[in-house]
Amino acid sequence: MSQLIIALSKGRILKDTLPLLKVAGIELLEDPEKSRKLIFPTTHPQVQIVIIRATDVPTYVENGAADVGVAGKDVLMEHGASGVYEPLDLNIAKCRLMVAGKVNAPAVHGRLRIATKFVNLAKQYYAEKGEQVEVIKLYGSMELAPLMGLADRIVDVVDTGKTLVENGLEPLELIAHISSRLIVNKASFKRKADLIQPLLQQLSHAVEQSRV
Ligand code: AMP
Repeated sequence: MSQLIIALSKGRILKDTLPLLKVAGIELLEDPEKSRKLIFPTTHPQVQIVIIRATDVPTYVENGAADVGVAGKDVLMEHGASGVYEPLDLNIAKCRLMVAGKVNAPAVHGRLRIATKFVNLAKQYYAEKGEQVEVIKLYGSMELAPLMGLADRIVDVVDTGKTLVENGLEPLELIAHISSRLIVNKASFKRKADLIQPLLQQLSHAVEQSRV
């Protein structure tokens, strides 16, 4: 019997994906948020869930270490992810990828310095605008960079905008609307169609239900 590995990441994606998987008859037997384990069996005898870092999900799925994954569109755009199928928008973990800067910041002369963890995305965005910028890679707390004089702008995901406001920043430009997508390894899509096709149908149904 073939096995299906689904890659998820902790936090928002896990929380919002589990109710959708439940509709497809897949439930975890223990809570990964309370465990240090990385591989979890489910109520479906042929399905296991691995919990990995959000930015690693496209890598696992592209290489076939996981058959299916859930990843934010921001992560997929940054990764490139051309080696996976992206058959379903799960309409969860929604946010906006934005440029933000200090409230009432004076105009910048010369190259803008952009702090972000989305280096490829930021470079592409400014290249398309025809602007020469310096992109500074950070791994967290982007909001701090303009306050400390490390950068003029940040490129980050924004949900309510509360984090920006609390740090004296304001949203300036919308780059893209973001939601999480189901991604599938290309070989698994064919070889494990008996498992993946019903999963896809049940998940699309669950997504439709959650929209109304
Ligand atoms: P906010 O609700 O705008 O204050 O967002 C709080 C923080 O959560 C921000 O610093 C974002 O980096 C992060 N965030 C918001 N929405 C998402 C999302 N859908 N996926 C991952 N991170 C998010």
